[in-house]
Amino acid sequence: MKTKRNTKQRRLVLDAVRSLTNHPSADEIYVYLRRLDSRISRGTVYRNLNVLAEEGEINHIRVPAADRYDFRTDRHYHMICSRCGRVFDAPIEYAEENDRAAEEGTGFKVKCHNTVFEGMCPDCLE
Ligand SMILES: [Zn+2]
Ligand SMILES: [Zn+2]
Repeated sequence: MKTKRNTKQRRLVLDAVRSLTNHPSADEIYVYLRRLDSRISRGTVYRNLNVLAEEGEINHIRVPAADRYDFRTDRHYHMICSRCGRVFDAPIEYAEENDRAAEEGTGFKVKCHNTVFEGMCPDCLE
């Protein structure tokens, strides 16, 4: 039963993103899942990540170097370390008023904005 297997794989991918709470890249998710199920293919993982992100089950974040995925689906900002490449959540509240401000006079319907702070993490600064 193809559909049943698809659902099972989607569930596996979703659980992986929720377990890897450190903003994993698609590749890291693939490596993690490969240890649990040696039959899972890279294509399957990537495809399911896309579907889950489209459905709002996970958050797809675009940061320099590689796309990452986030178990948190609420709007929030990120910080990326330019040395180790790790991604962190920024302790700043999402400024929804900026979305509205951008709409003003542009006729643009803004869905959201993405902000990534770049710098060095505490570990790399040591
Ligand atoms: Zn770092
Ligand atoms: Zn995050």
